Amino acid sequence: MMASHAQLILVINCGSSSLKFALYSTDQRGPLLSGLAECLGQADASMRIDADGARVKTSLDGANHAGALAALTRELDARGLLKGIAAVGHRVVHGGERFTASALITPDVIAGIEACVPLAPLHNPANLIGIKAAIAALPGVRQVAVFDTAFHQTMPKAAYLYALPLAYYRDLGVRRYGFHGTSHRYVAAEAVRELGLDPLDHGIVIAHLGNGASATAVLNGRSVDTTMGLTPLEGLVMGTRAGDVDFGALLYIARRTGVDLDGLDTLLNRKSGLLGLSELSNDCRTLVAAAEEGNQQAADALDVFVHRLARHIGGLATSLPRLDAVIFTGGIGENSAPIRAKTLGRLKSLGIELDADANAGIFGGKRGLISTGRTPAALVVPTDEEWMIAEDTADLAGLKAEMAAQ
Ligand code: AMP
Repeated sequence: MMASHAQLILVINCGSSSLKFALYSTDQRGPLLSGLAECLGQADASMRIDADGARVKTSLDGANHAGALAALTRELDARGLLKGIAAVGHRVVHGGERFTASALITPDVIAGIEACVPLAPLHNPANLIGIKAAIAALPGVRQVAVFDTAFHQTMPKAAYLYALPLAYYRDLGVRRYGFHGTSHRYVAAEAVRELGLDPLDHGIVIAHLGNGASATAVLNGRSVDTTMGLTPLEGLVMGTRAGDVDFGALLYIARRTGVDLDGLDTLLNRKSGLLGLSELSNDCRTLVAAAEEGNQQAADALDVFVHRLARHIGGLATSLPRLDAVIFTGGIGENSAPIRAKTLGRLKSLGIELDADANAGIFGGKRGLISTGRTPAALVVPTDEEWMIAEDTADLAGLKAEMAAQ
C-alpha cells in the first residue's frame, strides 16, 4: 500500500525489439510491478506484467515501442497508478565522454544521446525511441537518463586509451568507455556498506557476470579500470561474445575465410564466448550441468571463462593500492558456486581464501561473505540496476527533496 505522499517512478529499459519496465514507489524498496514487452514490431509482439505475485500476459498485435508504452500506460491507468507517476528513468547505454553522471532529460540531453549513436548504433537509437515515446505518453512528467558508461568516466587516461594512433581518439572518440556502470556503482556501494569499509578509503574489484560480463576496479567509490572498452565486447568471456581476442587472429580469419566486417561482427558478438567454445549453449547453467555429465567441451568453455576472469581480476587489482574485496554479481556471479570457487581458487596469490560451505549456500538472490575471515574478502551482492535508476531518477527529478520537505 502506498503512503498518501508517495510518488511513483517508472523505470524503462528499451532494447531494439523489447521494452523492460518497473514501477517503484518512493516509500518502498521493491518494485510495485515490473514486466517486459517483447518481439516489438513483429506480429507476435506481447507484454507481460508481474504484480502482487500474479503474471498477466497480453498480445500487442504487432505494436512498436510507442504502442507498447501506450498499452502500458492504459494498464497503469486501469490499476489507478498512472496519475501517481512523477518521473520516468531511462537506461541509456552510451553517454560517451559527455555524460559523467545521470541527467535530467532536456532537448540538449537528447541531442547529446543522439551524438553518441555512432558509438552504440544498436542500443542508443532504441533508448531514444523509449525516451521520445515516454515524453509523448506522459507529457509534463520529468524524465531522467541513466548511462551505462557514466560511472567509468573517472578512469584515468592510462586505463582508457588504446595504443592506437591518437588521432582515432581525437577525431572519432575511440577509447575505452566501459559498461554495466549502473550495476557496478550499485554493487560497490552495497559492498562497502556490507563489509563496513571506509567509503573514502577502499579498493575493491567487482565481477558482474551475466550474459554480458565485465569486471571493474573501484577505488574509494570511483571506477579506475574496467574490462569493457569502446563497445561491450572487450574483456571477459561472455555468453556469445568473445571478449579479448588477438586482432591478428581476426585478420588471419578474415584473410583465410573471406568473412566481411558484418560477418566478423556476428562472429564476435553472437557466435563466440561460451556458445562458440562449447558448441552447446551460451547458458552457464546448461554448461555446468553438461560438464558434470562429462561433456569435455562444456568443461573447457567454463575453464576458459574462469581463466580469463581470474586473470582480469588480478590485472584490475594492480589499479588499486590495496585490495579489500572481490565482489560477485549478475546471474552467474549470484548463483554459480562452482564458478566462484574455481575463480577464487586461482586468486590465492592475492591472499583470498574461499569458505566452501558459505559459498555453496549463496544463490537465488542471497548476499553474503564467501571467504574466511581474512582479507581480501570475497562477497556476493545481487545487483539491482532498476532500483539504482529509480534512485537517480528520484534524486534528479527532485522527488527526494520534495519528500524530505513533507
Ligand atoms: P543475467 O544476464 O545477469 O540474467 O545472467 C544470465 C546468466 O546467469 C546465464 O548464463 C545463466 O545461465 C546464469 N545463471 C543463472 N542461474 C545460474 C546458476 N544457478 N548456475 C550457473 N549459472 C546461472
